[in-house]
Amino acid sequence: LFAQPCDFIWAATDALQLPPSGPPEIAFAGRSNVGKSSLLNALTNRKALARTSNTPGRTQALNFFDLGTPPRLRLVDMPGYGHAAASKNKIASWTRLMHDYLRGRATLKRVFVLIDGRHGLKPIDNDMLDLLDRAAVSYQAVLTKADDIKDADRAPRLAETAAALAKRPAAFPEIILTSSETGAGIAELRGAIAKLLAE
Ligand code: GDP
Repeated sequence: LFAQPCDFIWAATDALQLPPSGPPEIAFAGRSNVGKSSLLNALTNRKALARTSNTPGRTQALNFFDLGTPPRLRLVDMPGYGHAAASKNKIASWTRLMHDYLRGRATLKRVFVLIDGRHGLKPIDNDMLDLLDRAAVSYQAVLTKADDIKDADRAPRLAETAAALAKRPAAFPEIILTSSETGAGIAELRGAIAKLLAE
């Protein structure tokens, strides 16, 4: 599946511009700089798929990519959060867009929430998880930049993340540890997505 064509199809900055639902959707969320673009590129074997999302005017948008001909999977790149310079207005419109999208999307199978593996869960990540809990959508945590975590810190980081997720209302699937640099965990992530499509 991930070797098939993957094309940018749509960008939405407000709920009125969402594309009509099509194939099952898998969304990716994370704070800016968490490594989301790199992970999307690694996942789809592209050098610059997610560069499309980082072009001016699209960083605040939900960006949709269809995979396969005919499309079998739709990847949704959610706008990064936690910009130090974001204004109150921007944060409010971001929150509204997230809420509107998450609340009404029957084809959304899961949101993968990227967490910087070097730092673990931060308050801004917890805000995103709160939003997902409120919308009652399925989500799964992905720790990024595994290559940059000290060996001794890996197991404790996974354990502390699991402990934090266990306090939340939703049952949480296995946490995936990834590195876009080394490719670690990418096969596991693809497997998790394939499993969702088979359900
Ligand atoms: P985004 O803002 O979430 O889309 O993040 P990017 O994918 O643009 O990555 C942000 C920064 O983190 C860049 O400097 C990347 O080179 C770096 N980065 C991304 N993935 C990895 C990774 O797996 N390992 C390491 N060590 N650095 C990474």
